[in-house]
Amino acid sequence: MPFTLHGLPVSQGIAIGHVHLVSHALLEVNHYHVAPKHLADEIERLDGAIATVQGELVGLKAATTSGQAHSEVGAFVDLQMMMLADPMLTDTARELIKSRGCNAEWALVQQMEHLVDQFRQIEDPYLRERQADVVQVVERLVKVLLGHPGHLPPKRRDGLGTIIVAHDLSPSDTIGFRDHNISGFVTDVGGPTSHTAIVARSLKIPAVVGLHHVRDLVEDDELVIVDGTRGIIIVAPDERIVEEYRLRRSELEIERSKLNRLRDTRATTLDGETINLLCNIETPKDMAAVKTVKADGIGLYRTEFLFMGRDVLPDEEEQYEAYRAVVKAMPDKPVTIRTFDLGADKALDRAHARVEPNPALGLRAVRYSLAEPKMFLTQLRALLRASVHGQMQIMVPMLAHAQEIDQTLRLIDKAKAELRAEKIKFNEAVPVGGMIEIPAAALALGMFIRRLSFLSIGTNDLIQYTLAIDRADEAVVHLYDPLHPAVLKLVAGTISAGARFGMPVSVCGEMAGDPEYTLLLLGMGLRNFSMHPSNILEIKQQVLRADLGELAPKVQRILKMDEQARVREAVQRLAL
Ligand code: PEP
Ligand code: MG
Repeated sequence: MPFTLHGLPVSQGIAIGHVHLVSHALLEVNHYHVAPKHLADEIERLDGAIATVQGELVGLKAATTSGQAHSEVGAFVDLQMMMLADPMLTDTARELIKSRGCNAEWALVQQMEHLVDQFRQIEDPYLRERQADVVQVVERLVKVLLGHPGHLPPKRRDGLGTIIVAHDLSPSDTIGFRDHNISGFVTDVGGPTSHTAIVARSLKIPAVVGLHHVRDLVEDDELVIVDGTRGIIIVAPDERIVEEYRLRRSELEIERSKLNRLRDTRATTLDGETINLLCNIETPKDMAAVKTVKADGIGLYRTEFLFMGRDVLPDEEEQYEAYRAVVKAMPDKPVTIRTFDLGADKALDRAHARVEPNPALGLRAVRYSLAEPKMFLTQLRALLRASVHGQMQIMVPMLAHAQEIDQTLRLIDKAKAELRAEKIKFNEAVPVGGMIEIPAAALALGMFIRRLSFLSIGTNDLIQYTLAIDRADEAVVHLYDPLHPAVLKLVAGTISAGARFGMPVSVCGEMAGDPEYTLLLLGMGLRNFSMHPSNILEIKQQVLRADLGELAPKVQRILKMDEQARVREAVQRLAL
């Protein structure tokens, strides 16, 4: 009998294939006694496994730096390398082997459980999440020790792919699956920002996470359908259901190839208004994808990824090279580079992260930058130097107070004065803009409009702070609603204030790249959308179908509604 399981859709598309249950190597660990004369051999066995895993991680790291894997994965691999080098894990395991006369696997699992317990008690969610990295590293070691490094089944002859079903997957595992005809990922845990989700999206493999007990509900080799768009999996589908999904999948493929034809078309509405579709990037390597979709510029370059998970912070020269590479790649288009948004779920690194009572409300983004003026000044100097290579603009995240803008502008002036004195060229008129992602900012726009050159609405955080929903917490993910009337009022108010005062406004949160909201945002008056490169063509398609004259009055009516269900229904009707 077919049945359906519901989870969180984190990577779009449809996959049909056979289950490959990824076993939990840690559950297979036995405890046995090792005779004193063999203890040295046992420690050597552990050291051999450590060296093997080190080699695996170095290989993965090389894949990330050569561009075969998404750059964010590099940070996760670095974290696992750090764990592996941490004496708290490996030295203590060696000690346990000696003092208890036990086998290496068991010593590792004992120490892992001890460390996981310690991590669990930490309030900071970023640090707390690091327990997963400890578990993943130990799992890798145990797999090597047990002699089964998790081989995948060979490619199937029936043309169907393999669906990986796991409790959780590390990003490095996920990357490792890329050459094995893997068609889908399904996991018990995780949310839209979980590691697996990030990697699955970058590999364009359909994925559903947060299914709780999926590993217990499916069997190895069983046929399943993964619908990564709707967040469901269908277990043991009959031939009729499989046919239906095959049809849906080929429709999606046709849709996608039709979309490719829009690459050279300008995003102009039916009533002749041209809309700017820009990209969000995390590293200069993402520029290849930006060029493929022929975007109108960069609306958000998240520079914090240059700083995360490293022992030594990037100096001015390294930063300058990264910023210059992006600006030079698009010299005749606007490139908006955001100053580092570190803190909360994007802590600099495990060792330096502070334990804060509530990191999302703590020292993050511009607050962090102003608390570290030397580090901030170095970035500003690098940015200013890169500004001569094209149309660069500087954007500041998480502003709420006038004095934060004033302090930032003073630091920019200081950086300019230093460069002038050193006779280093920069664009004196580089535009400086701010992100509107705290409700207070959206409700007190005057102070931003008076001081800045442009605004960009960060809907991811604006929704998080308006609805008091931690965007990284899967337990409250169902309450994270872009269509909440309060959110819409803040977004629409910012867009219309920008239009009134002649200040450019964009949206660079996930809402801008979701076709469900394109007509709504256009009707609010938005003309600059910034999103992941893979969303550009789909959003362009929506723009080409839009008639702004018709949309504006309809959206005005929606903004007067204060029931989410009515809003949702009215937004859906915009597309009819
Ligand atoms: C946002 O908050 O919407 C945003 C674009 O910034 P980030 O997702 O990097 O916090
Ligand atoms: Mg943000």
